[in-house]
Amino acid sequence: MWTYIIIGAIVLFAILLCFALAVASFSFENYAAKLKEVSSSKNTFGISTLEYVAEINKTRFAGRLAIRRCAEWEDHYSSGVVALSDKTMSSNSLASLSIVSHELGHARQDASGGTLKKHWKMLRKGRMCGLFFMPLLLVGVVLSLLWVFQVLPHIAFLIAGAVCVASALAIFVFAIVLKYLEVKIEKEASMFALEFLQDFLTEKELKTCKDFLHSALLTYWGGLIRTLLSWTLLTKKDVMFR
Ligand SMILES: [Zn+2]
Repeated sequence: MWTYIIIGAIVLFAILLCFALAVASFSFENYAAKLKEVSSSKNTFGISTLEYVAEINKTRFAGRLAIRRCAEWEDHYSSGVVALSDKTMSSNSLASLSIVSHELGHARQDASGGTLKKHWKMLRKGRMCGLFFMPLLLVGVVLSLLWVFQVLPHIAFLIAGAVCVASALAIFVFAIVLKYLEVKIEKEASMFALEFLQDFLTEKELKTCKDFLHSALLTYWGGLIRTLLSWTLLTKKDVMFR
């Protein structure tokens, strides 16, 4: 009986692992393909991205947001500022509108509570902790092995080794928790983005934007899975704390 349960559990784990690896590997390629496709679809309302941001800023944020220029591919939202590249500003593609609307979703999160700021603060802490992950893990493993092979036979070395490994594991868990919170934040920002867009787009265009933002969200799941399975050496390396 137990043999079947154990075999079943192993098969289930293998299936889940394959599924997770597939999501991790294909999410980025899938997003790149969708971006290319949606970049060529113009919105029938005829609004440019810059006009759209100005309109949402006026109607939803009472003009409180500042709009700045940034380099290409670096469009982002940060503390009351929506930064857009020249290319994004002049575009009227559904891809640009979706991306910018998503950034405006972050602006709404920022304006409606401390979640976003708290996340940024935790991420800064995570980056500091992340620097200690490998050294702690290595020192912990080496100390434990030296105790096992009786090179350093005192029990204190084993305890110190175990503390180092446990600290490294705690940093790993912290990274996973932060990535999961990031997925939740990104999902909410995309939900707000679609809410903003529905006043300007047709149902079909809105559906295209929804699919595109969903593929973007999948890359965050991909990042989480890559970090989670990094120890299997089967995934590409992902930054622990972005
Ligand atoms: Zn985002």
